[in-house]
Amino acid sequence: MAKERSAISKKDQWNVESLFPNLKTWQMAFDKAQRPSKPRWPELSYFKGLISEDPETLKTVLDLSFAVDRLLSALYTYAHLRHDEDITHDEHKIAYNRISALIHDFQEETAWIEPELLALSQKKLDTFLASPILKEYRFHLQKIIRVKKHMLTPDKEELLAQSAKALQVGHKAFSAINDADFKFGEVLDGKRKKHELTHAQYGLYLRDQDRTLRENAFKAYHGKYMEYENTLSELLSGQVQSHLFNAKARKYSSCLEAALFVKNIDTEVYHALIKAVHEKIDVLHKYINLRKRVMGLDQLHLYDMYVPLIKEADIRLSYEEAESIIIESTAPLGKEYQNLLKQGLKNDRWVDRYENKNKRSGAYSSGSYDTMPYILMNYKEQIKDVFTLAHEAGHSMHSLHTYKHQPYQYGNYPIFLAEVASTFNEELLMQLLLKKAKTDDERIYLINQKIEDIRGTLFRQTMFAEFELFIHEMAEKDIPLTPKLLKDKYRQLNEMYFGRNVIIDEEAVIEWARIPHFYYNFYVFQYATGISAALALADRVVKGGAKEREEYLAFLKGGSSEYPIEMLKKAGVDMRSPNPVKAAIQKFSDLVDQLDVLLQSKGKTEKAKGASPKGKIKAKG
Ligand SMILES: [Zn+2]
Repeated sequence: MAKERSAISKKDQWNVESLFPNLKTWQMAFDKAQRPSKPRWPELSYFKGLISEDPETLKTVLDLSFAVDRLLSALYTYAHLRHDEDITHDEHKIAYNRISALIHDFQEETAWIEPELLALSQKKLDTFLASPILKEYRFHLQKIIRVKKHMLTPDKEELLAQSAKALQVGHKAFSAINDADFKFGEVLDGKRKKHELTHAQYGLYLRDQDRTLRENAFKAYHGKYMEYENTLSELLSGQVQSHLFNAKARKYSSCLEAALFVKNIDTEVYHALIKAVHEKIDVLHKYINLRKRVMGLDQLHLYDMYVPLIKEADIRLSYEEAESIIIESTAPLGKEYQNLLKQGLKNDRWVDRYENKNKRSGAYSSGSYDTMPYILMNYKEQIKDVFTLAHEAGHSMHSLHTYKHQPYQYGNYPIFLAEVASTFNEELLMQLLLKKAKTDDERIYLINQKIEDIRGTLFRQTMFAEFELFIHEMAEKDIPLTPKLLKDKYRQLNEMYFGRNVIIDEEAVIEWARIPHFYYNFYVFQYATGISAALALADRVVKGGAKEREEYLAFLKGGSSEYPIEMLKKAGVDMRSPNPVKAAIQKFSDLVDQLDVLLQSKGKTEKAKGASPKGKIKAKG
């Protein structure tokens, strides 16, 4: 049984009291941050309609609005951290709801600023951008103004805004049917025992050694989506049509361009990713052949893809050991980085370490501009927990560098960059653990984990990205997204990605119907570019010298002060070229070769000892 929150010792808790000593002081600050009735920030609404006057006025508006935003962020951080410590704690839940509502009010009361800016003539905007008074906001303003050429007249903008809710129906209906209405029933395992099938259980069953359970779960799960293939293809089509509507209305050349333009990411980045993966797809086939051989199967199905090739190595690390090894692993980033991390983990109490009753599950890194970074963990001494802590600490160190070196308006980082620092630190940890590994079993476990990581984040997400591009291109050509068209494309992609050695079952080609990310509007490719950039940067820093290190640290300090692609380029990777992705695939290829050698020598020693090979999984059914 998990402990009560009150039984957790202070050193294992994050230092939320450094933000506000208690809920009472938080409440006082909350009350002071606003007027009791709307408008809550009259000092801001006073300027409505006046932005065009002169640069000073605009600066005042931006100063005021960022100051309120900053205060609200700190209030929010306190309430959400306290809430997550024990989600049944009433007072904290109320505080959390109050600050969430207040932030909503703030967004509403400042919603006029951007449209008013965008309504200014280009000439006026150019004078503002050139004004030294607005120097510290120049890039912030440029980011907003960039979309001006795709803005419509005010009456058309209003019409578009009014269509927003109607255009969300496809996504909402998909969530409703997928999360609430669908019931998957029960499935049998190899011993004819029944198991309930749910979204959460599905992932676990696919990792189970019992092949009958895997197969039954796979078929029952996808069978449900097959039953509804007409409805599900219409819902997806509806979502794609909404993207197309917006793209056309705003005169973008394609849905892809419309989605990436706002972030200033060239469509070339998207195409370069797909191209690089195509060129190197035989590397994935090599791994799949190895998997097939190790599993000792005549035929490999998609439900054989997730089962671990070797049982988890018995490496247990106490929390303190994990902390120390993570700090040690960041040596390539220099002494100063290490000391900051050490200070945060060991002295400043960034981390809420262990599980307690009613604590939020999982892990994350949080915090805001005026707070320290905070990390929620549910640490359980397994090797995967150590990686989770390294990952979250990577995010936290990115935030810390950004907070320290950027003004508030640039003190965050965009989604495209969000997973770079975390994945980078995981890679450093992996390298150190491999160096320290004492047995081949440990090495096999670690390498296989990294391989699966790259397979899931780079190859699988690129396959998704490719499918996403296809459905949008079909819509642009006015070709209806029928179940047959979608399934044919999905089969073709599966055949290309997995190669000849995998049987693509009828159930496999309906997988698109269950992926929520296809409703997100060109989101998933960022997982693939993120891991590629992170691996390329880690490689560069580990093999490089002071220059490479400094360039990476500059990236951590940059926040959102430049466009993400520019920022990565300065750190040393150009995502417009296919090279970082190719390098990541080369790394994957090397890891597969290493795994192959280790598994073969393991097989030989076990044969010599007369034992049956442990890594081999007997096919059932
Ligand atoms: Zn992350």
